[in-house]
Amino acid sequence: MHVELNHLSISELDNDKASQIIESCVHCGFCLATCPTYQIMGDELDSPRGRIYLIKSALENNQFSAKSLKHLDRCLTCRSCETTCPSGVEYGQLLEIGRDFMETKRTKLQSLYRFIIRKVLLTPILFKPVGYFFRHSKVTTKSLKPNNVRSKVLLLGGCVQPSLAPNINHSIKNILAKLDVEVIDGLQSDCCGALDKHLAASKSAMKQVKRNIDKWSLQLNSGIEVIISSASGCGVMVKDYPSLFKKSDPYYDKAIIVSSKTQDISEYLANKDLSEFRLSETNISYHEPCTLQHGQKLSGLVESILSQFGYIKKPIKDSHICCGSAGTYSIFESEISNQLLVDKLENLNASSPEMIVTSNIGCLMHLQKGSSIPVKHWVELLDV
Ligand code: SF4
Ligand code: SF4
Repeated sequence: MHVELNHLSISELDNDKASQIIESCVHCGFCLATCPTYQIMGDELDSPRGRIYLIKSALENNQFSAKSLKHLDRCLTCRSCETTCPSGVEYGQLLEIGRDFMETKRTKLQSLYRFIIRKVLLTPILFKPVGYFFRHSKVTTKSLKPNNVRSKVLLLGGCVQPSLAPNINHSIKNILAKLDVEVIDGLQSDCCGALDKHLAASKSAMKQVKRNIDKWSLQLNSGIEVIISSASGCGVMVKDYPSLFKKSDPYYDKAIIVSSKTQDISEYLANKDLSEFRLSETNISYHEPCTLQHGQKLSGLVESILSQFGYIKKPIKDSHICCGSAGTYSIFESEISNQLLVDKLENLNASSPEMIVTSNIGCLMHLQKGSSIPVKHWVELLDV
């Protein structure tokens, strides 16, 4: 059911959720200190508190302009503000509702540009040649197979990762084969829906989410133990699926099951006996993606796994701050994105590492763009 707000339509679920999130903000301003865009722009309207105010004003009084939309566009959706907020404000969810609602202020040219980028990224036949051109790694050997299958997992493909860095999932398959785990490959076309959702294409995102839930529920019922994500950006989206449905929606219970069965590869490996493995390089700097630390709240987990193999954790300045990748942000907001990249690389390189590692394909490609040393997914170092 939709409610009409001065001729603009918003679903009842989004309207209720937005009101409840807006009410939970006590305007303390603690979040300003950890917001990258506020640090760079110095404008309250480019802070979480300012954006909450803009969304409130849009939803309650229909007071918004193209400028308001620009302030929302500049948000990285890094959710650093959520980690800092003492009141538990679910800012990320509110932002997406606000973006959907304010999308009407976008010019036709901007909308067309966004549509083209979205379609290219999400259509494997269109993205494969682009991915080949920008390819970060390639696979030259066959993946290992387990000797005795003890369990079966579904490994999410990701929409861009298979074309850009196929070695990531190849390494995971080799690692899991040694642990006697059979991997079922997720399809490249089974995108998690995050790209659509973050670009205010909610209808398209919801279609994809429902398709995934139907398909993965069947797979979970036929022997798949866990759904593994090697891109923390996809993982956080799938874990958040229940928040997209009303409790009375038939998809809600299925979304809870899919979400509870989804793990980042670090969660899956954390409780496994990894004594037969070693790291191909230990002088590394680890960049923890926002989607892992602020989204999935798994801060420190990858480094605790790496430390079993002689990696010594080094403090990295501003490790809570986004690298500027943020999905398609680096395409649409390149100036802020590049500034964050320069700062991030300076901080990661302060200890003179041989390599930078991370947990998300977007961060990996973005960091590699400006880095003179290799940038890899941390699982690739275990596949030796
Ligand atoms: S979002 Fe949280 S930290 Fe920021 S002003 Fe509101 S209550 Fe304070
Ligand atoms: S999500 Fe990140 S960029 Fe956006 S308001 Fe929160 S801290 Fe700032």
